[in-house]
Order: sequence, then structure tokens, then C-alpha cells
Amino acid sequence: MNTTLPAKHVFPALQQKIKGHNLIWLDSASTTLKPQPVIDAVYQYYAQCSANVHRSVHTPGEEATAAYEGSRETARQFLHAKSTTEIIFTAGTTDGINLLATSLSRGMLQAGDAILITQLEHHANIVPWQMLRDHHGIELRVAPISDKGDIDLEAFQAMLTPNVKLVAFSALSNAIGTVLPIKEMIQMAHRIGAWTLIDAAQAVATMPMDVQELDCDFLVCSGHKMFGPTGIGILYGRETLLEKLPPARTGGDMIKSVTFEKTTFNDLPAKFEAGTPNIAGAIGLAAAINFLATVPFHDIQKHESALVASAQEKLAEIPGLRFIGTPRQQMAIVSFLIDNVHPHDAGSLFDDDGIAIRAGHHCAQPLMQHFQVPATIRLSFSLYNEENDIIKVVDSMKRIIEVFA
Ligand code: PMP
Repeated sequence: MNTTLPAKHVFPALQQKIKGHNLIWLDSASTTLKPQPVIDAVYQYYAQCSANVHRSVHTPGEEATAAYEGSRETARQFLHAKSTTEIIFTAGTTDGINLLATSLSRGMLQAGDAILITQLEHHANIVPWQMLRDHHGIELRVAPISDKGDIDLEAFQAMLTPNVKLVAFSALSNAIGTVLPIKEMIQMAHRIGAWTLIDAAQAVATMPMDVQELDCDFLVCSGHKMFGPTGIGILYGRETLLEKLPPARTGGDMIKSVTFEKTTFNDLPAKFEAGTPNIAGAIGLAAAINFLATVPFHDIQKHESALVASAQEKLAEIPGLRFIGTPRQQMAIVSFLIDNVHPHDAGSLFDDDGIAIRAGHHCAQPLMQHFQVPATIRLSFSLYNEENDIIKVVDSMKRIIEVFA
């Protein structure tokens, strides 16, 4: 194992027994386990301070504000945004996309404009745009993928007509592990003047997301998929665009002044953060980013790629096993089916051996329809997994196949 990877005991959840077995967590694409420094940071906020932000002159209030805004600076550095005004704290990826969709629907997009997504998106990057289609006359286009699960760049290019105003796509598919050529896709979208939104929910814990290098206009991610708490995420937006966008949610904190006749909105980023935010979540997210910074992305990728390659090799030997998605570049995730075994039954039987995998459509039903399957069994790897986990999966699978033989 690579020495820069954290010791397993940093993740307390891995010390538990499930049905008499040590837990093997192969469901990091759903949510990652939390390391002790993140748990400590959240605990300390509630235990020591727990004050609200941006409104009090008392010491606990000032400390909470400093910690919350300090977390924003940590998030800025992580995504390499130019300014903290470009970092909006949200409840997660789904929330960030909904926030953007609501804001865009308030006069930024007109009937006849189009939004382009891809066939492998998570429901979070489909349904908010369908709402714009159904309620605001925006056209929704879907770029196809190949039988292997790669984006068809020629078709994507052909769909980029001048009325496309936003192109929204995932950096890494949560269902089949496809790594999309996002830089190329951003450049293609920019050539017709469209804005770009990167769904980095899966990517952030595996590959560096540098918004200046990518030159994307928006990017969303979730804290809980990068070792942080649930209920916190980031919407990055290019400052010039965020300045033009109307607020999506209104109320306290996002205003400068209010009369019954008129409200003046606050400056960025407060304009997009109405109400008391998830203060503990932001502090925990900053702790997660600092934790992630202790392991170079190169090492994480090397480790996860080795696990993916090993899983593919060992699983390929199992009779009746079929991989779903075999893209050119695959990261962290392996999806498959076994003849005569329903994924959900497999999931329950894996659980009997203390192995947590995900069985289902992975919130990507249109992608499942493309492969003509209702669901898959998914293994998703992170930096706390090891070769032995795959050996146990294969042993467990042989037992499961016997049950259904
Ligand atoms: N997009 C992708 C690619 C995802 O994997 C997920 C979570 N599975 C989401 C969006 C939604 O993230 P969240 O549930 O944290 O809002």
C-alpha cells in the first residue's frame, strides 16, 4: 500500500463489525467514510462555540463567523477559485444545481434557449433542467454515449447550436466510472458562447478540480463525497456571472436593506446564502479538504486505478458476470451484473459478509435504460480500500452464486 495513504484507524467507522465481520466499505460513491479530524472539527464547533454567523458582536459569534469564512477560503484554495466571492456554500451537489436552475429561470434564460446534458448524468443533473423545460419553455438536449459508456463527442459537438446557453455534465460518472473529457467539452461549449456547469460530485475526492485551469463557469460538489459532513456542498460560479444572476432563495443574510417596498441584495457570496447556513458543515468540509490535502491526488489515483484494474481482472473470471460500462478511462467505480442474481439480493448477501456495496440504478435511470438493465451491482473504491477487500468480494460472490445455482 502507498505510504502517503492514511492509516485505516483514522476512519472510526472501519473499526465496527457488521454481522460479525470487519466492515468493508465499497460504497464510497454513495458517501465516503469520515476521518477523525472531520468528526473532531464538527464536534468542536458544537461543543465550544455553536454561535450563529454574520450577526453578533459577541466573541462566540465572531469566532463562528471567522471559522465559517475561513472555511470558505479553504474551499476557494481547494478549487483554485480567484476569490471567495465565487464560493457559495450549499447543502450539496443537488442543492447547488437546483439553486443555479432556479436563479437561471428568473430571467436569465428565455423560451427557445437550450440546455445540453449527457446521457450518463445523475438525476440531480437532469430533473432540475426538466423543470426549466416544463415551466419555462427551455429545450433540454441529451448528448448520447457509446455502448462502452463514453461520451460521443461528435454528437455532442453537433448538438452545440447557438441557442444552447448552458452545457451541464458530470466529470466522473457515479454509476459506471466514466471519466469525461471535461476540459475539451468546456472548450467546445465556450466556442458557441454557452456557459458550462461541471457536476464534480464524484470527481472531487479522486482528481484535482481547478476551476481556473478548467475554465468552467460553474462547478458543484458535495462535502460528504470527499470525507466531509452531509448537508454541505459548494457551488462555484465565475464572479462576473454570479454578479448578473438573481438570487434563488431570499430572506435573512442575503440582503443589505429591506423595506416593504424594496429590498437591496447583499454582495457576493451572501446574495446566494439566505438564512442560517450549515456552519458546522462548512467547518467540517474545511477539515475534510485539509485531510484530503495530506494525500497527493496522484497517489489517490494510482491506488484507486490499481484497485479498479484488480477488480476487473478478478471479476472477469467469474462465470456469468457482465461488466456494465467499459469506458476508455474508468476511475474508482466498477459496475456489473451476474446471471440469475438480482443486484438487490446480491447486496443483502454481501452484507451478510460485512461487505457494503450498492445495488440499484444509482440515481441514473436514463443511463440504466441505455444499457437496458434496471440496476447494477456497484463497487466504489476510495483511499481506505485495499486489495484484500477485492479478494473478500470475490469469495463472497462465489458463495452468492452458489445460493442461486
Ligand atoms: N451527481 C453525481 C455524479 C453524484 O454521484 C451524486 C451523488 N450520488 C449527485 C450528483 C448528488 O449528490 P448529493 O446527493 O450529495 O446532492
